[in-house]
Amino acid sequence: METNLEADLKELRQVFNSGKTKESSWRISQLHGLLHMLEDREGDISMALKQDLGKHHVEAYRDEIGTVVKSVNYALKNLKQWMAGKKASLPVAAFPSKAELLPEPLGVVLIISSWNFPIGLSLEPMIGAIAAGNAVVLKPSELASSCSSVLAETIRDYLDNSAVKVIEGGSAIGERLLQHKFDKIFFTGSTKVGRCVMSAAAQHLTPVTLELGGKCPAVVDSFSSSRDSSIAAKRIIWGKFGACAGQACIGIDYILTEKKNASNLVEIFKKYITQCYGDGPKGFHNMSNIINKKHFSRLKNLLDEPGLDLRLFMVVCWMKRACKYIGPTILVDPPLDAAIMTEEIFGPLLPVITLERIEESIEFIRARPKPLALYAFTDNENFQKRLISETSSGSIMFNDVILQYAVDTLPFGGVGESGFGRYHGKYSFENFSHDKVVFIRSFLIDFWFRYPPWDDKKLQL
Ligand code: NAD
Repeated sequence: METNLEADLKELRQVFNSGKTKESSWRISQLHGLLHMLEDREGDISMALKQDLGKHHVEAYRDEIGTVVKSVNYALKNLKQWMAGKKASLPVAAFPSKAELLPEPLGVVLIISSWNFPIGLSLEPMIGAIAAGNAVVLKPSELASSCSSVLAETIRDYLDNSAVKVIEGGSAIGERLLQHKFDKIFFTGSTKVGRCVMSAAAQHLTPVTLELGGKCPAVVDSFSSSRDSSIAAKRIIWGKFGACAGQACIGIDYILTEKKNASNLVEIFKKYITQCYGDGPKGFHNMSNIINKKHFSRLKNLLDEPGLDLRLFMVVCWMKRACKYIGPTILVDPPLDAAIMTEEIFGPLLPVITLERIEESIEFIRARPKPLALYAFTDNENFQKRLISETSSGSIMFNDVILQYAVDTLPFGGVGESGFGRYHGKYSFENFSHDKVVFIRSFLIDFWFRYPPWDDKKLQL
């Protein structure tokens, strides 16, 4: 269907200028609309996630539908407080006057999202954009086509379509959208496309938030308690393979551990992989599939390089619709210049890199681009402190994975090549707002020395 993009953008601009979206009643009604949409159409959304990514409905609810419901409820609970001006203190010289920071919406904003969490990564920023009173264009990823259609259809049915629009399509539509002026662009996707977005935004001086990817390491120290080391291994398997089969921006990309621990660690990994996913394709319904043939081949090519030590290599299969799975795969010490160690993996392949001493992990991480997330499993407080102070990443989490994404009170975002800008909870509201300085002066006092003609006496006052 030909999109009448220019007419849509014109309408959004008119509606924003009318002041409708600034009203708190509009914001609240749209957030309730999102809630109703997620409740009434949960089955359709879950089905779309199944069609695009083979997500089990439990995973679909945990990672996407349920997470968004939680975030909408949090925004509804806190909206009044977020919208209130923040009183600012002023110097005595400004007496008598008052000042505050008053959040105002930015205008018409564009959200471009990716395919791996196609519902969550579209709606999570939209909550912030609506809560802050903006008119919104969402362009979902064409690669998760069922989710893109279900978003277009349900948003049209449940939200105010004059102020919130879904424009479907691939890179060509993305490029067309970027030619227009927006008041904010919120982009989730690859570093490569992030650069294009930023350079297009520069033409209009539009501020951007870039939620990008990269390689997230997990440092695994040795534990004195076998229970702790067992829980650590289980959480790693859960975080690597259980969140969209490793197609997650904050999923673990590779492990760093001491040589003496590696064999034992791989054995525990194998145990938990079998426990969670069985030992063959039958258990794969608990894991998402690879999004498409291109990504399937990309991942297979990563494994086709010579000299890889595959310790666990589950079935890899591609048959048109029926099976696009790659089973959990573990490799020990692939060459550091192999593609699997230089490119973001974004799939269920887990390299384990061995080091003589765990402290070497700090230098290993520092020598590479700053990750979106860094994970470390260790109970050594000194080592924890060193990792915090000597490495840089969007977030650092000890002894667990991924959970930082689901906490409304924590900002989510990258640093360096993993992106910039942050969102979730209040940070989403702030991302789509401008804190306007409102400074109100009184006529009560008017100092004579502020006005020319100048003389040195006025400097002394
Ligand atoms: P992508 O960059 O290929 O596509 C992202 C979006 O941009 C899609 O909607 C796509 O249609 C659009 N697009 C593509 N080319 C465009 C162009 N030239 N102009 C305008 N829009 C264009 O990324 P992807 O394959 O969808 O997602 C995978 C990447 O995203 C990975 O690197 C992953 O780490 C990253 N990611 C980051 C986060 C995060 O929160 N930081 C979350 C999910 C994914």
